[in-house]
Amino acid sequence: MFRKLLIANRGEIAVRVIRACRELGIRTVAVYSDADRHALHVRMADEAFCIGPPAAAESYLNIPNIMSTAELLGVDAIHPGYGFLAENPHFSEICQDVNITFVGPPPEAIAIMGNKAAARQRMKAAGVPVVPGSEGPVRNESEATDVARSVGFPIIVKASAGGGGRGMRVVHTREDLRRALQTAQAEAEAAFGSGELYLEKYVEEPRHIEVQILADKHNDVIHLGARDCSIQRRHQKLLEESPPPGVRDRFIRALGKAAVRAAHAINYTSAGTVEFLVDRDGHFYFMEMNTRIQVEHPVTEMVTGTDIVKLQIKVAVGEKLGINQGDVEIRGHAIECRVNAEDPRHDFRPSPGTVAMFVPPGGPGVRVDTHVYAGYTIPPYYDSLLAKVITWGADRAEAITRMRRALAEFEIAGVPTTIPFHLVVLDNAFFRRGEVYTNFVQRRIDLSALAPHLST
Ligand code: ADP
Repeated sequence: MFRKLLIANRGEIAVRVIRACRELGIRTVAVYSDADRHALHVRMADEAFCIGPPAAAESYLNIPNIMSTAELLGVDAIHPGYGFLAENPHFSEICQDVNITFVGPPPEAIAIMGNKAAARQRMKAAGVPVVPGSEGPVRNESEATDVARSVGFPIIVKASAGGGGRGMRVVHTREDLRRALQTAQAEAEAAFGSGELYLEKYVEEPRHIEVQILADKHNDVIHLGARDCSIQRRHQKLLEESPPPGVRDRFIRALGKAAVRAAHAINYTSAGTVEFLVDRDGHFYFMEMNTRIQVEHPVTEMVTGTDIVKLQIKVAVGEKLGINQGDVEIRGHAIECRVNAEDPRHDFRPSPGTVAMFVPPGGPGVRVDTHVYAGYTIPPYYDSLLAKVITWGADRAEAITRMRRALAEFEIAGVPTTIPFHLVVLDNAFFRRGEVYTNFVQRRIDLSALAPHLST
């Protein structure tokens, strides 16, 4: 096992990794920016080292500073969490070069999935169904027109290097195509440093269903079932659940098989997620693979009784998974609500500030993953996730009831949060029947009717 591991991240995921290390008997090193001096991950780790000013580019993305800290403190592994450097093949390669284990897949696997147009081609060749669209990147308007003509409108223009729901444009007519290509390209260049685009058929009212996989360095790959992440706003996930409601086991098994095939095709190791779009007729299509731990991994942990972060660390050391596909059993139902410091009554405007009061919920079937405490000031430089509330129930109805109970218990004063939004979703009759799709929030939730936030 590793002796000392550095967490190249902050917030709740840094805390989550520290917890896994504690249970494995690994010493931890936290790194932090000037804005995070009082952060929980800094308090919890065995050692902590400042790596730069608040801007992420100068701290959490600062590879030279992180690597010199790692070498100075003699760590033998680095866990990148999610975001920041987690999907940077260059970073994982540098770790390899200096003999520090990167807790994640090999650089080649990250690079393949990091270019979404190339990943599509690779998956198609491996027999994993992809959304109909361009073969690879589209180079110009006339190529794009040809693709659009063959798959039919509406189509979605996407950035090869895209992520976080950005750099996408839905196009309904031939006339709008040129403008969409131009704006998507400019946006992608600014956000990701590459303007490369590809096209997909726009799937109407799809569900976003993804598969958690785990792969060791001995060629064993298993999946831990599926999560439904259809409750999104502007392509960003807000609520996730496992198993996906109203879906047959047989369908999940087929998705799982496709995900395992995807992982084998790129010699994947570590934890990862294969994302699919599912259309109204139940066809599924590979969308992308996230080559890292995901925000919503706890719902899978709750229904499978596993600790994905611990397993991720064990396979990084070189241990065998020790679980066969047949050992994976899905028990009950779990839901996660992302509690963000955003004001859902004002277009989900991020609202950092000082959290005056913080009383998280508890009791049976409730888990809270957070880095926040009373008196903590949320810095304006990073994402707005305050806490993840995860509830487990013997069935979906119980998980929903528990989530309503838990969110009602949750007292956060000083900043507006997304809790009132979640309470409206949980009460929605369509949601309760499991009728979800990626434009659910837009179609079914009246944000102007949200009750005034009790605790601001
Ligand atoms: P990102 O990496 O930015 O998260 P994804 O490719 O995972 O981008 O897509 C994010 C979301 O965008 C999906 O969950 C879905 O809601 C929507 N989306 C992506 N591709 C399509 C498509 N072809 N048709 C319809 N919706 C899509």
